[in-house]
Amino acid sequence: MHIRSEKLSLQLENPFKISYGATTTRQNALVHLSDGELTGVGEAAVVPYYGETPERVTTYFENLPSALAENVLLLEDALTQLPPTESSAARAAVDMALHDLWAKKLGQPLYRLWGLNPERCATSSYTVALADDEAAYRKLVANAQGFPVVKLKLGSGSLDTDLKFTQIAMTLLSDAQICVDANGGWSAPDALKIIPQLAEMRVLFVEQPVAKHDFAGWRMLRQQLPKNMPPLIADESVQGVESVIPLAGLVDGINIKLAKCGGLQPARQMIALARALGMQVMIGCMVESSVAISAAATLTPLADYADLDGNLLITNDPYRGARNVHGKMMLPILPGLGVERLVE
Ligand SMILES: [Mg+2]
Repeated sequence: MHIRSEKLSLQLENPFKISYGATTTRQNALVHLSDGELTGVGEAAVVPYYGETPERVTTYFENLPSALAENVLLLEDALTQLPPTESSAARAAVDMALHDLWAKKLGQPLYRLWGLNPERCATSSYTVALADDEAAYRKLVANAQGFPVVKLKLGSGSLDTDLKFTQIAMTLLSDAQICVDANGGWSAPDALKIIPQLAEMRVLFVEQPVAKHDFAGWRMLRQQLPKNMPPLIADESVQGVESVIPLAGLVDGINIKLAKCGGLQPARQMIALARALGMQVMIGCMVESSVAISAAATLTPLADYADLDGNLLITNDPYRGARNVHGKMMLPILPGLGVERLVE
């Protein structure tokens, strides 16, 4: 098995501003696993607010056991052999590359080996970040024209601004379903104030209203919000498989991202767990190229919502794979993850 790591510097078309701050580039990393005949590829999203660093990710790649996937057809054995790491993004990249190589060896798209119907992909939302003023916000919202589901990043620091931005989007995108993601930017009392107003504006769901570790906040929302509110979806509060059960009864759904949970294998376990607990499932992403987006897209036939626009926000995607055509996910009919390199 030959293992090669590669730095992947992604340029964002617009500065991406959310409640954690703004960024214009992301330093992701790719891993290529080759058995001498075929090569699988995976991507690690290096998200600073998840504590990831490019060094930690590439160190993990460089120290993988060389006997990894000696027989990649025994995929579960290979996944079990992965060394433990603090970096979920690094594990996710290797997990993706192993799945890619496995499905390529079998000559089929990954979703087909799982028996998933590519016609049943959940509609993907298009994300509108925060802006510094109303005029800039109108421009960002205009980019979302034509998408049936649009996710607004809220948690600007002012509830009035959050409501004003939502109203602007509702007016300019009157044909779209609007959902909101506060990225943990509200206190529980703030969330109790704004969620009923967002419910009146008919938002589709509210994602991560309170901070990542604010379980008391989640509990307060569950106890004090009226019954007919939009579903509350946990994102930052849910990480790996072990984080699902503590959220049972507190949230209506979870946003699963490969870079948070460690790849496709744990993501599928989380989907099964969420369904057993009666939760909705969203498949989300980070700022990522078509490698990680295509891997996540293979899970969307199992999801209620998808949020896979990370590759649409960048200008230098070196791959082509699953396509998000105005929210409709189109899975490639190619073996593995179905990604093809466009530029070297
Ligand atoms: Mg989110």
